[in-house]
Amino acid sequence: MIETDILIIGAGPTGLFTVFEAGLLKLKCHLIDALAQPGGQLAEIYPKKPIYDIPGFPEISAQGLTDNLLEQIKPFQPGFTLGERAEKLEITPENHFVVTTNKGTVHKAKVIAIAGGLGSFEPRKPTTISNLSYYEEKGVAYMIKEPESLRNKKVVLAGGGDSALDWSIALADIASELTLIHRRKEFRGALDSVEKVRKLRDQGKINLITPAEVEKLNGNGKLESIIVQTKDEENKEIEIATDYFIPLFGLSPKLGPLADWGLEIEKNAIKVDNALDYQTNIPGIYAIGDINTYPGKLKLILCGFHEATLMCQSAYNRIYPNKKYVLKYTTVGGITGFDGSRKQAPKAVVEAI
Ligand SMILES: Cc1cc2nc3c(=O)[nH]c(=O)nc-3n(C[C@H](O)[C@H](O)[C@H](O)COP(=O)(O)OP(=O)(O)OC[C@H]3O[C@@H](n4cnc5c(N)ncnc54)[C@H](O)[C@@H]3O)c2cc1C
Repeated sequence: MIETDILIIGAGPTGLFTVFEAGLLKLKCHLIDALAQPGGQLAEIYPKKPIYDIPGFPEISAQGLTDNLLEQIKPFQPGFTLGERAEKLEITPENHFVVTTNKGTVHKAKVIAIAGGLGSFEPRKPTTISNLSYYEEKGVAYMIKEPESLRNKKVVLAGGGDSALDWSIALADIASELTLIHRRKEFRGALDSVEKVRKLRDQGKINLITPAEVEKLNGNGKLESIIVQTKDEENKEIEIATDYFIPLFGLSPKLGPLADWGLEIEKNAIKVDNALDYQTNIPGIYAIGDINTYPGKLKLILCGFHEATLMCQSAYNRIYPNKKYVLKYTTVGGITGFDGSRKQAPKAVVEAI
């Protein structure tokens, strides 16, 4: 069982910044995210797009902001459970929380911060392959957690967006054979990614099949080959031997299991007390960032940062009801990491010149 002070559900920008604010209060955090990597919408939907409304950053890419947040929270050594969805909530007699994921990982915490954004991102699955679900975890996957696990394997990717393009580029030198299938000839993604994939195709590193669709999967107990139907004038059926078939058709957000936790929900978001501390109707469970709603709510990154800051103060008072925390500016108090690191502004000296 993983034990922590604050269990954060959602490793988007709000969840990541919560670790920093909690760390200043010496509270330990652990994050759960259904996605394979931290960053939420920023890393999954628009990593290369510039953001212009982060205070102090006239322009920063979404992945750049995610990387900076990860760097900023490093001293506070957060734990991560990635690629798993928080599913089940139990409240212990001493009012602590036990959260179990869809893969059975159990977490115990004194406080929960739900920073779940639009909900947990679930992969969109192709609907036309009848035996797809049989091969799940037997060669079919919908996200890539460990690219190295695909080293020297035959891999078929399907999809026409940024994710399919980016993974094609990343796996070109890892897989022994890499095929990318898309139902159209045109790809919808960053221009430089499209050009890179074109170049890799010309170098023979990617077998590009367009326009085409995967029709059927074959294999004895595990995936061995796929049947592809081309949609061009040739309209032919091709069998491709493969170890993995990974459709990357995007993700759709679902409030999912959180909707059954007894939280007050309004318009697919969790109602919170914004006059005080972003606590939900269950004491000790907070909701911050895009996932919450209150009068005047704005779904912006900077609003999530603000909510995280106030929420952590309230969490501290809940965890240590008899201790008084005095707010210190980081310029004055510095930062003491749980890893023993220390950052501090140079002290003023009194010296004759
Ligand atoms: C194309 C685009 C451009 C944008 N541009 C801007 C901009 O310029 N400026 C701006 O301020 N905002 C912008 N936004 C909005 C911004 O991305 C969101 O406000 C921000 O991502 C919210 O952060 P969050 O951490 O609250 O949620 P998210 O980023 O959505 O992260 C939530 C995370 O929680 C996880 N999760 C949810 N439920 C569970 C569960 N049960 N178990 C495990 N994990 C779970 C999800 O997988 C997800 O990773 C943009 C959004 C989009 C789509």
